[in-house]
Amino acid sequence: MGYTMTREAFNKTLASLSKSYKIYAPVGFKGEGRFSDTDVIRYDEIKQVEEIVLDEKSHFSPKEVLHPIRQTLLYFLQDEVIEANTSSEGIIVFLRPCDIHGILKLDQVFLQNGNIRDVYYEKLRNKIKFFMIECTTGFDGCFCVSMEANKTDLYTAAIRFDENISIDLKDDDLLHYFKEEKQIDFQPEFIEKNKLEVKLPPTEKITPEFFDSSLWKEYSERCIACGRCNFVCISCSCWTMQDISYQDNPHQGERRRVWAGCHVDGFTDMAGGHGFRKNYGDRMRFKTMHKIYDFKKRNGMSMCIGCGRCDDACPEYISFSKCINKVTEALEEGQ
Ligand code: SF4
Ligand code: SF4
Repeated sequence: MGYTMTREAFNKTLASLSKSYKIYAPVGFKGEGRFSDTDVIRYDEIKQVEEIVLDEKSHFSPKEVLHPIRQTLLYFLQDEVIEANTSSEGIIVFLRPCDIHGILKLDQVFLQNGNIRDVYYEKLRNKIKFFMIECTTGFDGCFCVSMEANKTDLYTAAIRFDENISIDLKDDDLLHYFKEEKQIDFQPEFIEKNKLEVKLPPTEKITPEFFDSSLWKEYSERCIACGRCNFVCISCSCWTMQDISYQDNPHQGERRRVWAGCHVDGFTDMAGGHGFRKNYGDRMRFKTMHKIYDFKKRNGMSMCIGCGRCDDACPEYISFSKCINKVTEALEEGQ
């Protein structure tokens, strides 16, 4: 069902929705960027449409809504373990088509990876409704078309933000929020071509020897293992566990999971001190081949959505999109 409404009317609808849903969208934070006097755009709760940053790519993805940076899973008391509560409110997230694809990759990892579903992720995932922001131009560094992440119909509502707001609503549960608005024919459009294109490698040419290619040496020298590329990436899902004992009673505490990343020191360390990928180039190889090769081999889809956030975030100007093209060239040239 299509609707058109003014921004004032949309804000009233957001106010009604916020009684039952937490509403998240990309929001600008002044002075909180990675350098002094720079800003950051990341996901946070909103009340009004004017808070949503629509004219720039968000630096961080919406993954933190359902895979929080730090999430308490359970509390341990003297002789008892209590699972952490999740709020009963639903969740609405404003996000672009590529990020909906990103969440499908997270679903694969948390819900369809073997026989055990991750209940902590699932509880949040079941509450989420996607309000898709129509995206027809993309931003610098996006290559979603190459990664086939530019289109989707897996949304609750698709929204075009012009002077007025146009909505394609698919969820009957939300119909009563919009029933007073004017009905129109509206279908979202999608970007068909990015300025940046990448060419995915011919996977049949990937051999075990390729993993020792000299191509990765460059990254041993350039990467500083800061992990920014992992943390901004919607499809990087790794975490580590922390058991925290309370200072006033060390027999009580909580278990948290916190984001971790394959580029960061310590990620592959084992008891006895062995680390599987001490060399930073090896970490770049692991991430790259996971994003564009082995995840696809197992799940039928690449892990990368082509958002380009990792390229934007890297302090060493390492470009993941260029890295994919280098892998493809090397394989085509039989290196
Ligand atoms: S472009 Fe980079 S940040 Fe975006 S999904 Fe691909 S690897 Fe992750
Ligand atoms: S952001 Fe750049 S320097 Fe930092 S870990 Fe990733 S590739 Fe290495």
